[in-house]
Amino acid sequence: MIDFSLSEEQQRMLELSREFSEKEIRPVALEYDRDGTYPEEVLKKAHELGLVYTNIPKEYGGSGMDFVTHYVVTEALNYDCCAIGQMIGISLLASGPILLGGTEDQKKKFLGRMTESYRSACFCLTEPGAGSDAGAIQTTATKKGDRYVINGSKCYITNGKYADLLCLFATIDRSKGTRGICCFAIPRHTPGIKVGRVEEKMGHRALNVAELFFEEVEVGKDNLIGEEGQGFRLAMMALDRGRVNVTAVCTGIAQKALDEALRWAREREQFGEPIGNFQGVHFMLADMNGLIMASRAMYLQLGWMLDQGIGCTTEAATAKFFASDAAMKVTTDAVQILAGSGYMKGSVVEKLMRDVKLTQIFEGTNQINRIVAGRGLLRGRNILF
Ligand SMILES: Cc1cc2nc3c(=O)[nH]c(=O)nc-3n(C[C@H](O)[C@H](O)[C@H](O)COP(=O)(O)OP(=O)(O)OC[C@H]3O[C@@H](n4cnc5c(N)ncnc54)[C@H](O)[C@@H]3O)c2cc1C
Repeated sequence: MIDFSLSEEQQRMLELSREFSEKEIRPVALEYDRDGTYPEEVLKKAHELGLVYTNIPKEYGGSGMDFVTHYVVTEALNYDCCAIGQMIGISLLASGPILLGGTEDQKKKFLGRMTESYRSACFCLTEPGAGSDAGAIQTTATKKGDRYVINGSKCYITNGKYADLLCLFATIDRSKGTRGICCFAIPRHTPGIKVGRVEEKMGHRALNVAELFFEEVEVGKDNLIGEEGQGFRLAMMALDRGRVNVTAVCTGIAQKALDEALRWAREREQFGEPIGNFQGVHFMLADMNGLIMASRAMYLQLGWMLDQGIGCTTEAATAKFFASDAAMKVTTDAVQILAGSGYMKGSVVEKLMRDVKLTQIFEGTNQINRIVAGRGLLRGRNILF
């Protein structure tokens, strides 16, 4: 009944992603981390190999992978640098609402254009006054005949400066709360869209994050994804998939931290022997591995559930907070094992520890994910066992 073996195709994609990470991401990871620049060359190479639009069906120009394969690839692509890995995988979250709620014509038009050459997307939900309380967004979509005029601003938008397609959430009626929120697919060249500040961050430095402003941005009915008022639901459904993605990202980061700690435990000698001979170090390594095994098992199970069409909101929220808290602990312990050498700028584990902090904050903070999971449990289990 349970089979964890990868198919030939999954194995091929895993090897391709590992090789790509080793050859194209590893050599430049520290450089992009230092400079905080956009990893354009790496993204274009990943696109040539079919590693960018992995979750988008082939009929819309993507690689058409199932969720399990997509998440296995995600772990591998985030092993050497999660900022670059996530720039490669940004389409999962941003294309989610279109895949979930768009018509056939909209999928062909918006996703087809995006995948044609390297053009990426962004997911525009957060605003200065609406972070955790995403239902309180103030960006408005005012109806003008059969068109909508959008005004407002978004902040902390990953890929905000470079995305060609914006998946934007705006309200047509604030008095309706989340039921007034609509989702729009908007090409970047639409007049009235301006990029504001590009953020400087403590980690994930190659991840482009920007403010966006919308002034009298006029779009048609064709740009509305789903029905009016369905936007919040589509955002939350896309976030279920995104949270499993974060679980796979965290597994990749934590595996890298463990591998660095193991290498050091074998090489570094104190008291006349490798520090890996000391039981105190064994305990840390064993705990790190346990957290990684659990995180990997979670994303594999959830990928399978998504592939079967089984709802997994509670489980996706749980996996997200578990794996990101786990990766935070694993990377902190890796710095502890490398000690002085790990704490220094330019050390791999120092970068991992700074990078991983974001995974406890975005796609719903871990407090919010615990609320989602707690409420889901109280409503009733939909888990497999
Ligand atoms: C680098 C980066 C990239 C991002 N990318 C995107 C993106 O691409 N698209 C997008 O839309 N957004 C993006 N975000 C935004 C991200 O999703 C928000 O930062 C996040 O939802 C938290 O919102 P906030 O920062 O306003 O914190 P706040 O909501 O102000 O929360 C502050 C603190 O209060 C806690 N808190 C709030 N409400 C509760 C509650 N009810 N119970 C318990 N604790 C609570 C929070 O957990 C947190 O600890 C990104 C953020 C960052 C930092």
